[in-house]
Amino acid sequence: MSKTQAPDTSSISRLDQVKVSQYFGCNTFSERTMRERLQKDVYKSYRQSLKRSEPLSPEVAKSVALAMKEWAIELGCTHFTHWFLPMTGATAEKHDAFIMWDEPGQVTERFSGGMLTQGEPDASSFPSGGLRATFEARGYTAWDPASPAFLMEGPLGKTLCIPTAFIGYHGEALDHKVPLLRSMGVVSEQAVAALKFFGVNAESVVAQCGPEQEYFAVDLELAQQRPDLLFANRTLQGAKPPKGQELEDHYFGSIKERVLGFMQEVELECFKLGIPAKTRHNEVAPNQFEIAPIYEAANLASDHNQLLMELLKSIGERRGLAILLHEKPFAGVNGSGKHVNWSIATEEGQNLMEPGQTPEENLQFLYFLCSTLKAIHTHGGLLRAAIASAGNDHRLGANEAPPAIMSAFLGAQLNHILDAIEKGDVANVSIQGIIDLGIGNLPRIEKDATDRNRTSPFAFTGNKFEFRAVGSSQPIALPLTVINAAVAEALEDLNTKLAAELKAGKEHKAAVMTVVRQAIIETKAIRFEGNGYSDEWKVEAERRGLPHAKDTVAALHIWEEPAVKAVFSKAGILSEGELESRLHIRHEQYQKAIAIETQVLKEMAETQILPSISADLGARAESLAKLAVVGITVPETLKQALQAQATLAGEAQARLTTMKAALNAAEAIEDLHARTEAFGNSVNQSKHALREVLDQLEEACDADLWPLPKYWQLLAPLV
Ligand code: ADP
Ligand code: MG
Repeated sequence: MSKTQAPDTSSISRLDQVKVSQYFGCNTFSERTMRERLQKDVYKSYRQSLKRSEPLSPEVAKSVALAMKEWAIELGCTHFTHWFLPMTGATAEKHDAFIMWDEPGQVTERFSGGMLTQGEPDASSFPSGGLRATFEARGYTAWDPASPAFLMEGPLGKTLCIPTAFIGYHGEALDHKVPLLRSMGVVSEQAVAALKFFGVNAESVVAQCGPEQEYFAVDLELAQQRPDLLFANRTLQGAKPPKGQELEDHYFGSIKERVLGFMQEVELECFKLGIPAKTRHNEVAPNQFEIAPIYEAANLASDHNQLLMELLKSIGERRGLAILLHEKPFAGVNGSGKHVNWSIATEEGQNLMEPGQTPEENLQFLYFLCSTLKAIHTHGGLLRAAIASAGNDHRLGANEAPPAIMSAFLGAQLNHILDAIEKGDVANVSIQGIIDLGIGNLPRIEKDATDRNRTSPFAFTGNKFEFRAVGSSQPIALPLTVINAAVAEALEDLNTKLAAELKAGKEHKAAVMTVVRQAIIETKAIRFEGNGYSDEWKVEAERRGLPHAKDTVAALHIWEEPAVKAVFSKAGILSEGELESRLHIRHEQYQKAIAIETQVLKEMAETQILPSISADLGARAESLAKLAVVGITVPETLKQALQAQATLAGEAQARLTTMKAALNAAEAIEDLHARTEAFGNSVNQSKHALREVLDQLEEACDADLWPLPKYWQLLAPLV
């Protein structure tokens, strides 16, 4: 067994200290490290289990654990943890030291195969949506060998993190990872079956994802003075800044040094952890930025995005920046999303969403394209439901983000092709040389050079689909699970139809074209190339019968539709019970988010804003009285302005009372659905109403007396 000494990564503190390719993934127990450190046969059976998605045998697990422990300890690890994604949407970890009693008073480092492959955290404190009664609180974490173990650096040492799936006693999924892995298996199975029709013998097909992550950075000291930013991750009050993004001079602008330093530190840590951070740039709004990795297998992309969100926050804090991942931290300023780029490819790397070089490949491409269209058409509602949250409600359909109506943008060229196929005259129609008459009835497809449509929630961008409606703080696992599940279902349907056509004796190309054409006709309603922000589209979408859940309250109902239950349960991705538990948790999370916002706003209004307004009113009244004392006539306009401010303060007090009553009323409701309705309607409305007057009060209040950092301070360039 050849073993290279692990590189000393703690000494790498600059991006450019050595070439990135030399230290990329140095904090992960990567394939390369395994190959070097494991016996040949052990490595081989590890690879085999991985390929077949089978658990490791105890002997293999034991050897892997030993090698992993040695590697981790060489690099300065003292602790290990199973790292998982409970349904809270955050990550969870519980650290254990490697130490064990050796002889009396003496410890030794130990880490067994069992400790590697399985853990048993107390599951009762994680939300299970009623799936697991608390009396059988046992939950298990099981290593996902497809995701490499990694080291987390702490101030005084490192911790070995083992990415795991989190399951209940009876095997029920308690996390976001298990359904994602299951959905990847299902879409692979159907895509492999589809490829057989095209003479391609693939062993498996991988769903891939590159998530573009947007975020805001705010000076930490300022953020810490705002309870709303600390507890609700967004401002619940704030008058518009004098200079917002009207000038749009931030997008792709030069990155200020303070932010660049932060980005570079994030990238350094990403590289060490094997996260392929690729792109950094300023976003549209002031102090809004983006980081995008190179795409990877969907499960890795999901783990890496969760890790990235943690890194952004912790490195930000270290560098005096509060990183806001919320979808709408500032009213009136563009919100943040996460573009989830998705495609499927064979294990050999053939991207099935890529128009091909040959007519045959193009036929295959059309087949997969139309299956995806069918998935969006059948499950547009579910896709919408998968990204519904209290935070994303502020963004979707707000004329800056994709609308809440799901549609697909294909670009002019593909649209022409699909239209021609629909008309049934591909062989006779030539549009700008796209459709080649020379090759039978097959279209030649070239990379679309037409402009991007930024208003589409689901856009085809040349060789992948880009799901743009996902919120910036959301785990991508669920949207990815939904896309995979829906595409698998659509592929299965097309596969069945194609098999029937062939059985009926139709020639191959003609049979495929028949099935493709049928799908094109069926899914026409979902295709939209126009402006997704316009009111006309809302009317048009309704005419087409597309679902339009305008907010989370409406979107939550979608989970209970029979077609939604079926797409998950039929394929074994989520049982009815597992789905129900997720719905329950989504209701609870929505209610909790709004309850926290309401309580924080109440606290801010009662203990900070209204007292400051009183002080301001008092001080101004006193000044006017002093003028009168020395015989100066107080102009009526001054008195009126003061009166108006006092009246507004009274209105704020009244609206605060209404909001408190609405919150109490909502919290008293027993029924889950009715409580969600109350939070979404009366509580939200009362919160909004209060904010309206507080913002007006801010505009007239003495700046020295105003108790909170203002928008212009929070959004000022970070220097
Ligand atoms: P654009 O700027 O056109 O949106 P980029 O090339 O910058 O596209 O890619 C955006 C994201 O999409 C990146 O994370 C990238 O790795 C990812 N991506 C590119 N190709 C694919 C693909 N075939 N499947 C999934 N994601 C992809
Ligand atoms: Mg993009």
